[in-house]
Amino acid sequence: MYNVIPFWKPLVEIAILWFMMYHVMLFFEGTRAIQVLRGIVMLLVAFFVFQRLNFVVLDWLLTKLFGISIIALLIIFHPEIRQGLARLGQRHLFIPSLREEEWDRILKEISVAADNLARDSIGALIAIEKNEPLHTFASSGVAIEARVSSELIESVFTPRSILHDGGMIIQHGRVMAAGCLFPLSPNQELSRMFGTRHRAALGLSEETDAIIIVVSEERQDISLVYRGMLYKDLGREELISRIKEIIKIKKEDE
Ligand code: ATP
Ligand code: MG
Repeated sequence: MYNVIPFWKPLVEIAILWFMMYHVMLFFEGTRAIQVLRGIVMLLVAFFVFQRLNFVVLDWLLTKLFGISIIALLIIFHPEIRQGLARLGQRHLFIPSLREEEWDRILKEISVAADNLARDSIGALIAIEKNEPLHTFASSGVAIEARVSSELIESVFTPRSILHDGGMIIQHGRVMAAGCLFPLSPNQELSRMFGTRHRAALGLSEETDAIIIVVSEERQDISLVYRGMLYKDLGREELISRIKEIIKIKKEDE
């Protein structure tokens, strides 16, 4: 009788491992963690190979390194861990949801403003709060509290306006602040075509679930940024429909 390991077992194991790694990578894609994660995967592969080949010293060294790397990870991701925990505590328990007609009006005003600003080569950055509060970012600017209108948005971003620098924040369907500072994304894959305005939009979208609209003064185009993704060159209708998709508003007769 032969005592052989069924040939399919290692294959199944490899497939499961691959599947798990792929999904962890997907989860972290677009964040700073992805580079660290790649490093860890490379270390794991090296560790496995060294053990198989009986490289005692290298094996010993990597085992030690893993212990240290846990502490290193805690230190490197200290801001993310803190933000994550703070966000858990801050989540809205009750959001007075806007009526659909009000959303329609707001999105129309924003898109008209974005269109006009793009045509006049004026840059703009507007963040719409979804579930995660943007208070911390709003407090870095000047409080406004006004009804959303294309005229207000356009005049805020007009180059001679005091509040044109920085981002505008819309919460609960109202313009709550302008001139706000957003966090810059450290994403190294962002094309050189985009400067700090787009990087700030991306940064905010990586830290919160805000929906961000960017008007480029250089390229005169409108982009939508959400959850670390940037959708560029959007027309008015496309901008509105994409935002509606995100906030899951569907007209009853559609
Ligand atoms: P554009 O395509 O409009 O030129 P860009 O992505 O190339 O945009 P810049 O040209 O660097 O970016 O835009 C600079 C403007 O972006 C600043 O004047 C400021 O209004 C805004 N901005 C830069 N950094 C931030 C930030 N951290 N938070 C909010 N707004 C910012
Ligand atoms: Mg620029």
